[in-house]
Amino acid sequence: MAGTAPISFDEALARLLLLGAPLPAERLPITDAGGRFLAAEAVARLTQPPADVSAMDGYAIRFGGLPGPFRLAGESAAGRPFEGAMRDGEAVRIFTGAQVPAGADTVAVQEDAVLTGGELRFPHDGPPREGAHIRRRGQDFAAGQPVALVGERLGPARLGLLAAAGLAELAVHRRARVALLSTGDELVPPGVMPGHSQIVASNALMLHELLHPYADVRDLGIAADRADSLATALASAEGFDLLVTVGGASVGDHDLVRPALLAAGAELDFWRVAMQPGKPLMAGRMGDMLVVGLPGNPVSAFVCGWLFLLPLLKRMAGDPAPQHVVRQVPTLVDLPANGARRQFLRARLSGEGVTPAGRQDSSLLGVLAGADALLVRPEHGPALKAGTSVPVLTL
Ligand code: AMP
Ligand code: MG
Repeated sequence: MAGTAPISFDEALARLLLLGAPLPAERLPITDAGGRFLAAEAVARLTQPPADVSAMDGYAIRFGGLPGPFRLAGESAAGRPFEGAMRDGEAVRIFTGAQVPAGADTVAVQEDAVLTGGELRFPHDGPPREGAHIRRRGQDFAAGQPVALVGERLGPARLGLLAAAGLAELAVHRRARVALLSTGDELVPPGVMPGHSQIVASNALMLHELLHPYADVRDLGIAADRADSLATALASAEGFDLLVTVGGASVGDHDLVRPALLAAGAELDFWRVAMQPGKPLMAGRMGDMLVVGLPGNPVSAFVCGWLFLLPLLKRMAGDPAPQHVVRQVPTLVDLPANGARRQFLRARLSGEGVTPAGRQDSSLLGVLAGADALLVRPEHGPALKAGTSVPVLTL
């Protein structure tokens, strides 16, 4: 365990990402693999399109026969191709996605065609060139080609591509099993009316919503601010990949999470981070399980969860680039100089730039819920005039 002096944000994140590693791979039916990260390259089993097909509704013709007349020989629709070959002077009615008949080399769009007495003519603008409006066999992908690399996330488009490529099963990284433990004598579960001097434990629900795209999250409930209650709760977290405690992480008389973790055999890698919100943040291991202790203030819990837990869980899920992307955006107001802790100001983005909220207290959930970005003030950053570019993280 490092000393108790706070470490920098960058160091804390780097050390946390070193604690986690990609979880083992498993094979899943493609229908269950959405959102996962690939553990093995995916190779197309099919060719797309499987044949030359029409890109338009119109007529399959031979370019050399323009401007016509052409005699209509039949029809080719998606899934119901024209059987046989088209002869000179013939045209085949064709629809988008339908196979181009043998003997045709061009598709003419129906708006350009004049059909009289079964004869087709193109008196004005016909197709611009031979081969127009045909999607060539394999122009999207061909069997045997890689269609997704290791580490690719199976988002909607990638998943659609792999389904089209005929993949039925995929090797993906397992999702992390995450346990959330709230701590505090004052807390009641969401939906329960708090009594005198109680408040609702809103953090677990918030963190569940934040993390579940990347992990299977279970709420272990609320532990009291007592060593025995915490010990029982920590024991119930066996079998998870990551335990997240919320609250009790500071140095007050009732902040018992750190001693309880140490008593339960945890080895803490770091305990305090020079950042705002969220100074009392700890991370380490307990047996095979990672442990992260978040501060209880709702804004601190969210910001630390977003800044630390999301990249950690993305890494465990197999994302090769799990870190958040920082953008440079002009600040729309003057900013004061910053102190020794990196600040993450709740802020709103507009087309012109970014505006930090007027109130930054880490208990203000209302301000957080209205924010769509964090404006980052680096350690010892100087005062800045409106219009200066500042680093911003989009929530
Ligand atoms: P702590 O980190 O335990 O000192 O808590 C800091 C502040 O956050 C206190 O005002 C707590 O009441 C509040 N708090 C702690 N845990 C939660 C929670 N799970 N949900 C909402 N507020 C909490
Ligand atoms: Mg507490």
